[in-house]
Amino acid sequence: MTGYRGRFAPSPTGPLHAGSLVAALASWLDARAHEGQWLVRIEDVDQQRCSPELAHIILQQLSACGLQSDLPPLWQSRRGDLYQQALDQLVARHLAYPCACTRRELEAAQSDTATPRPRNAELVYPGTCRNGLKDGARRNQALAWRARTDAGHPIEWSDRRLGAQAQDVEHEVGDFVLQRADGCYSYQLAVVVDDAAQGITDVVRGEDLSNNTARQILLQRQLALPTPRYLHTPLVLGANQEKLSKQNGALSIDSTQALAALNQAALVLGLPPREGSLSQALSAWVGDWNTRLKSVI
Ligand SMILES: [Zn+2]
Repeated sequence: MTGYRGRFAPSPTGPLHAGSLVAALASWLDARAHEGQWLVRIEDVDQQRCSPELAHIILQQLSACGLQSDLPPLWQSRRGDLYQQALDQLVARHLAYPCACTRRELEAAQSDTATPRPRNAELVYPGTCRNGLKDGARRNQALAWRARTDAGHPIEWSDRRLGAQAQDVEHEVGDFVLQRADGCYSYQLAVVVDDAAQGITDVVRGEDLSNNTARQILLQRQLALPTPRYLHTPLVLGANQEKLSKQNGALSIDSTQALAALNQAALVLGLPPREGSLSQALSAWVGDWNTRLKSVI
C-alpha cells in the first residue's frame, strides 16, 4: 500500500455510459498500478438534477465491471456542513462575496462586451458585485456567493497526459459561483473540499472536466489545501463527433456484457483487448498500465 489515493466521482444524472466508463477504468487502473486506494464519490450536490436511484445503478454497474470502491462511497448531498465551513473561511478572508445578479442581468452585461463567447462556455462574470451589492433594495433577495479570482493568476499546472496547462481564471471564467442563490453548493467548491478531505493524491477524469482544474487549484490555494496530480483521459465521441454525455443521449453501458464494455473503454485508453474472466482482464490491464507508467518515467 502506498500513499496513492484516487477517485471516480460520477454525478448521478444518468447511468454509466461508454464515456464515463473510460474515466472509471482509467482511475481504477492508475490506483491499482500505484498499489493505492480507489474511492467512489457520488457527486449529487445538485439534488434537483441527481437521483439516489441513479447513484445506486451506477454503483451496481461499476461493481458488475469489477470496479469496487475500497471504502464506502461518499455522498456529497450529505456533506453540506463541510462545504459551508469552507465557504465561511473564504468569506472571512474576503475571498468570496455575495452576488445579487440575475441570469438576465449577467447575459445583458455579457452582450455589452465585445468578446464573443465560445459555444457551451459559461458566461464570464463581469465582477458586478465584487465591491459590494449595488443597492439596499436587494438585501432581501436570495444571494449567490462567488469566489474572487483577481489574485494569483494565471494558474499553471502540469497534466500527466496533456502536459503544461495554464488558465487565467479571472479573464477566462471570472468570479465563479461557490453557492447558488438557491443554496446549492457549486461543483468546484464541493470537489475541492472532498478531494482534500479524502486525501486524494491523483485526480484521473475525462478531458471534458480539464477546464475546471484551474478554478479548483485556485480554491485549493485559497483554502490552504494540497493540490493533487491531474490526468485527463481521452473522450469518447459519438456519431456526431460530440462528446458522449447524458445530455446528448449516451446509452447506458450493458453491465451484463461487462467485459465487452471494458474492452471498449480499454481501446479508448490505448490498451489491448483482453479475454478470459473479468478479473484476468483487469489484472492484465493493470500490468499494461504499469508498463506505461514506467515508460513515462
Ligand atoms: Zn453579481
